[in-house]
Amino acid sequence: MTSRCPDCGLPVLVTRTLPGKTTAGGKRLAVNPDPDPAGNTGVRRDGTGAVVSRRVTEQQPLMGYERLHMPHAATCEAQQPQLPLDTSKASPTPRQKPLPEGVIRLSDYRQRRT
Ligand SMILES: [Zn+2]
Repeated sequence: MTSRCPDCGLPVLVTRTLPGKTTAGGKRLAVNPDPDPAGNTGVRRDGTGAVVSRRVTEQQPLMGYERLHMPHAATCEAQQPQLPLDTSKASPTPRQKPLPEGVIRLSDYRQRRT
């Protein structure tokens, strides 16, 4: 079933997760509606027409009847909890390079005149 992400409003495909080695299954997982080779979720329709998904791993590779999708949470712009909120700490702005000789900063020039 296609739905919309309540956070960013983009269309998502809501799947039901299958029980896996590490997951109990039966949860709702929104994936991006278009197959994505970079995704980690195998999506298929089960016998009743419901869309089911599971985590694709090395031990449980993608099957021919499944399509690889990206979990929407991985790309949702409205929910990126794994990113640090204060990006200035994560990537400090590089210091300004020294200017070549004979060139002055306009801001310095203005300060000198006042
Ligand atoms: Zn979203």
